[in-house]
Amino acid sequence: MNRFQQSVTIALSDIQLQTALDRGTTRGVNARLAGMAETTDASLLRHQARLAKERALNSLPELLEELERNVVANGGHVLWARTAAELNQIILDLCRQHNVRRVIKAKSMVTEEAELNHALEAHGIEVTESDLGEYVIQLAGETPSHIVAPMMHKTKESTAQLLHDKLGMPMTDKPEEMTRFVRGVMRQKYLEADMGISGVNFAIAETGTIATVENEGNNRLSTSAPRVYVAVMGIEKVIATWEDYALLVQLLARSATGQRLSVYNNLMSGPRRPSEPDGPEHFYLVMLDNGRSRIYGTEYTESLACIRCGACLNACPVYQNIGGHAYGWVYPGPIGSVVSPLLLGPKQLPALPYASSLCGACQAACPVEIAIPDMLLKLRRDLVQQGDPTLGWRVGMRLWALVFRSPLLYRLSGKVAGALTRLLAGRKGVLRQLPPPLNGWTANRDFPAFGAPSFRERYRARRSARPSTNGSKEM
Ligand code: SF4
Repeated sequence: MNRFQQSVTIALSDIQLQTALDRGTTRGVNARLAGMAETTDASLLRHQARLAKERALNSLPELLEELERNVVANGGHVLWARTAAELNQIILDLCRQHNVRRVIKAKSMVTEEAELNHALEAHGIEVTESDLGEYVIQLAGETPSHIVAPMMHKTKESTAQLLHDKLGMPMTDKPEEMTRFVRGVMRQKYLEADMGISGVNFAIAETGTIATVENEGNNRLSTSAPRVYVAVMGIEKVIATWEDYALLVQLLARSATGQRLSVYNNLMSGPRRPSEPDGPEHFYLVMLDNGRSRIYGTEYTESLACIRCGACLNACPVYQNIGGHAYGWVYPGPIGSVVSPLLLGPKQLPALPYASSLCGACQAACPVEIAIPDMLLKLRRDLVQQGDPTLGWRVGMRLWALVFRSPLLYRLSGKVAGALTRLLAGRKGVLRQLPPPLNGWTANRDFPAFGAPSFRERYRARRSARPSTNGSKEM
């Protein structure tokens, strides 16, 4: 059994996880549907958003250079990181340069990708997550299980217990009381921090502006209170214009949480100017590649259009049942099943492209119309082509192809399989266990015997019984 299957088995039997997932994904799906229903033409909006991201990807190198020029013109600094290790080193160097001992960090999946917290903590730098969910996850010593709702796997009851155990919070089941308590703890952290770090939702090339969205105000405080601010983005986050931003930012909010707009939409264009009363003295933008340029220009380029709204996770029947941690890396759900193997390399996490029924719920939910099922199929093809299939697999696939190419063999095999399954199933009509190598199917479910008469036989009988237009029966 590989690690993915083990994780899935554990997740499926975890009652608390199942409760949390049921609540969280149902809330997410309903909020998105309500948010999108308010728009006059949701499909047109999604298509326009798709075109905006396509425009950005089509001129990605030029836009990144334009972004760099404008950030520098605004008084900021731009640094490029080829790998996660380079990103961590760059930020560590900035910490040394500015004598930073404490960092306050707003939510950022790209820093999760690089495991930046560990890298800084290993050098004695204190890092505090300021997003409520991320802070709870940090206290628990866990990783996020959703790209928008990091503690999707936790119930409010388990969160209250954790805050009680770790911070002495009086027990409560009211989320607003937990939030108030954590805010009190967090306030001092903002004041003490030397450096603020955040992710980037969009980077607007034409003015060199960094845009982040949030609902708690923690991002705004993390990026403006400390004297040094570092924004970290994957290179795919750049967009061309403010018009594109205006479109994408509302679709991001509606798809992620069902809001018309997020509560805080922060726009940062460089360090504090002499006339301004607050803001960071130093402004850095670090752009991370970490495998993205390897994807760019391939048949998987559109995966870089993702705006990390999390809608495909909520909509996915697989994610709804197994949660985020089972996927084994930072990006879970349908889009994670595409980007994780692409970023880490094709042989890493080989089970993920198969972690989908290809039902299409992810693509239907995606605000930028990413064809996730198509890419999952292509990844499966790549895995087969690059893999070293066993003799049994090769022979099995050849037989399969032979049968599916011949109507006669297809009919015959259907008859044999039908008779065999009915014989083995007996009066119960279901098989509790299939023989190897098909026994994986019955590990978690029954296998119903094929019906008799078969669908083809019924269809043919019905057609021949149907009267034709001239009154006679069709033959
Ligand atoms: S693939 Fe689409 S739905 Fe999924 S997170 Fe990205 S933008 Fe959202």
